[in-house]
Amino acid sequence: MKNQVDIIIVGGGIIGSSVAYHLLKDGFTGKIIVFEKDGTYEFASTPRSAGGFRQLYTTDINIKMSRLGLQFYKNFARNMAIGTETFEIDFKQLGYLFLATEKMMPKFQEHLKIQHQNGVSSELLGKGELLKLIPELNTEDLAGGLFCAESGYLDPYSVMHGYIKNAKHLGAEYIYEEVDGFLSEHGRIKGVRLTDSREFYAPVVVNCAGAWASGLSRKAGLPLPVVPVPRRIFLFDVENPLEKHLPLTMDPTGAYFRNEGQKYIAGYGQDAGSKIDFSWRRTEFEEQIWPILTRRIPNFEKAKVERGWAGLYDYNTEDHNAIIGEHPQLKGYFTAFGFSGHGMQQAPAVGKGLSELIRTGKYDTIDLTPLRVERFAENDLVVEDAIY
Ligand SMILES: Cc1cc2nc3c(=O)[nH]c(=O)nc-3n(C[C@H](O)[C@H](O)[C@H](O)COP(=O)(O)OP(=O)(O)OC[C@H]3O[C@@H](n4cnc5c(N)ncnc54)[C@H](O)[C@@H]3O)c2cc1C
Repeated sequence: MKNQVDIIIVGGGIIGSSVAYHLLKDGFTGKIIVFEKDGTYEFASTPRSAGGFRQLYTTDINIKMSRLGLQFYKNFARNMAIGTETFEIDFKQLGYLFLATEKMMPKFQEHLKIQHQNGVSSELLGKGELLKLIPELNTEDLAGGLFCAESGYLDPYSVMHGYIKNAKHLGAEYIYEEVDGFLSEHGRIKGVRLTDSREFYAPVVVNCAGAWASGLSRKAGLPLPVVPVPRRIFLFDVENPLEKHLPLTMDPTGAYFRNEGQKYIAGYGQDAGSKIDFSWRRTEFEEQIWPILTRRIPNFEKAKVERGWAGLYDYNTEDHNAIIGEHPQLKGYFTAFGFSGHGMQQAPAVGKGLSELIRTGKYDTIDLTPLRVERFAENDLVVEDAIY
């Protein structure tokens, strides 16, 4: 049949491209089409991400996925090279640090136990150790922090680019058109309809449309608890740079900051409500983030905001974690969205996991079953304590 393929992936961001890449890398020989509505990726979440990767989670599943991501990204440039073309991703293991007040310390002690059980080399730091990491830090209201030296940050755009190039190299076809809806028959997915009315058919469709994914699912009569939520990031320079490069540092207020080259970026887990909105205002930095930053690090007082941007979380309102697997009400329809603020670091695990599930019917490397669609109906949520 015309336009008949084996797998259709909707959304060619980091998740969709990782799924395509891992399927083909793992030996899938069928034809894969990735539909991407915007070849420039201007509004995709991946290039707008803060690029942080951490192991400081409190659920086995998130820790396992992030650990796989860490190993994958560590070797990304070498393993993803195509001939002489390498994909440098600016992988920086400068650490991930949660600053803690006295009240927060018992909670972090609990987190530490779970992390150690999963092989994470996290450690609780006292004030003196915090100052070794960040000599300029104001520790007045702090009791210490939870730190993982293996973690850090990288350039998410380059990872996405590397995945796309490799997926294409292995045979995936990218078509830069928008999917309008899914086609189904007798409880089975049949394919997709594009906004220009053309239809493409496949027995497997994977929804990796990021912040737009839940809208597509709802349109197909299969709503899931995920909404688009804007989050903003600001890039700024300071008159007196810090002595050392920063780990990705999370303040007890929920504001976070890290180096971006010789400059800095900062963001805030503010509740901006659910909408598709890419606006940002300098005053937001001045009124909401800057006061926190200057209190924490006096050098940030003389800061000049160079630019800002907003990106969308595909925010899972129930348990803030990804929804991965085949939908129980529509055979062949697979979901991979709802990542909230941690999809970039989970992309390798999701790609690998869905490759196994689609090819063999079961997970092998990491059991992603806890993230299944059915968990909402079964009231078996994945409750992650360390989500901001
Ligand atoms: C400000 C911010 C900071 C973040 N920081 C971090 C972080 O530090 N660490 C971390 O791990 N994660 C972070 N994240 C989350 C991370 O960026 C996302 O979880 C991840 O990028 C999701 O990837 P994706 O491929 O699902 O989505 P996207 O990158 O958005 O890709 C989805 C693609 O689908 C396409 N699409 C949508 N609808 C259609 C359609 N109908 N037809 C065809 N194509 C379609 C879109 O154009 C888009 O390119 C952050 C996110 C934001 C917004």
